[in-house]
Amino acid sequence: MKAPALVVGAGPAGLMAAQELAQAGLPVILAEAMPTPARKFLMAGKSGLNLTKDQPVAAFHAHFSGSCAGLIDPGFGPAQVIEWAQGLGVSLFTGSTGRVFPVGMKASPLLRAWLARLAAQGVGLRTRWRWTGWQDGAMRFDTPEGPTLLRPAATVLALGGASWPRLGSDAAWVDELAARGVQIAPLRPANMGFRVDWSPRMQRHFGAAVKGVAIKVGGHAGDRLSRGEWVVTRAGIEGGGIYEIAARIRDGTTALIDLAPDLDHGQLARKFDKTPRKQSLGNRLRRVLGDPVRAALLMEWGHPLPADPAALARLAKALPLRHAGPAGLERAISTAGGIAADALQGLELRALPGTFATGEMLDWEAPTGGYLLTGCLALGRRAGREAAAAARRS
Ligand SMILES: Cc1cc2nc3c(=O)[nH]c(=O)nc-3n(C[C@H](O)[C@H](O)[C@H](O)COP(=O)(O)OP(=O)(O)OC[C@H]3O[C@@H](n4cnc5c(N)ncnc54)[C@H](O)[C@@H]3O)c2cc1C
Repeated sequence: MKAPALVVGAGPAGLMAAQELAQAGLPVILAEAMPTPARKFLMAGKSGLNLTKDQPVAAFHAHFSGSCAGLIDPGFGPAQVIEWAQGLGVSLFTGSTGRVFPVGMKASPLLRAWLARLAAQGVGLRTRWRWTGWQDGAMRFDTPEGPTLLRPAATVLALGGASWPRLGSDAAWVDELAARGVQIAPLRPANMGFRVDWSPRMQRHFGAAVKGVAIKVGGHAGDRLSRGEWVVTRAGIEGGGIYEIAARIRDGTTALIDLAPDLDHGQLARKFDKTPRKQSLGNRLRRVLGDPVRAALLMEWGHPLPADPAALARLAKALPLRHAGPAGLERAISTAGGIAADALQGLELRALPGTFATGEMLDWEAPTGGYLLTGCLALGRRAGREAAAAARRS
């Protein structure tokens, strides 16, 4: 009997690779370290599963960066994700910003339908199978039945990045692959918050949402603007409005907050000028900015504040975001860095012929907004197709 193809890691990238291998008519074993598959995918559904963004393929793909960004097949974009989810019987809706979600917002119905289809295609899911490296050329696993060796016809590694390690992807693969000569760009947090050393006066705002502000990063041509919401926490700042521009801030670009984006400088200066001087500064700022947390941020990051209304308006429209570095990988939405494009021929590891790598373990990154899942699904499909061709040749 023909040796099965092996996929290690049952996240979205691995599930898609397994689907392609099964559709190619190959017997497939899908090994997963955790007791249940796709825990990060399920977690993604807790805050609303954003599957993709309904926009033209070229604009969509412009959001990917990193050495492996060019390996994400532009032939698999938003339209294919929508078709795939609907094909699993899940109804979708598109929000006002083009983001696409399941009607129920959750990942579990989609995952249940997908796993059932994979089982019907003959994919053999093995949970609690932790891949621990190679032994005499075989893939070695710790399993509930004890150590097990497999010699597959082709292998897809879909082990994820390093964020939220308690959900399964702990990047233990880095040492194993680096020891075999695979080039790996350092893993870094992506789509993460930032640490802030708040003064005690900010305590009362912990948990408060910051709405209606704009954050600008970059100088001129490379400007990016985020209008999304974010949250002040004990540890710093986090949330969608920060994640959108987190990579640029992480890489050293200054971020400037416009606390009143709907007013120009002159209008804001006049408003500051009109507030009665006998009121406390805090009250005057709250009155003009219309929100206690915006006023508190101006006092915190603009300290010492200028008395002149024109200077105060200038600061409120370009307040430097002062942080103490990115939050750690353990709470980041995704991981930047990973297996470098130079280590790959297509998605096959040059150092390990017959072994393919896919998903978040490759060196690419993208903002939140459905780009991450679409990228993982596109890469999973490509790895599955390339592995199927290799398995047929073997
Ligand atoms: C809180 C949160 C919310 C998110 N929301 C969104 C969203 O709305 N939209 C979006 O596009 N993206 C979102 N993401 C990101 C998205 O979930 C990930 O990019 C995606 O799950 C990565 O897929 P993957 O298959 O590459 O890796 P993973 O999903 O991490 O899967 C890797 C799998 O490999 C297994 N594994 C690891 N090591 C081994 C081993 N040695 N042996 C066997 N198995 C192993 C792991 O247990 C895991 O199941 C979110 C992420 C988080 C954390």
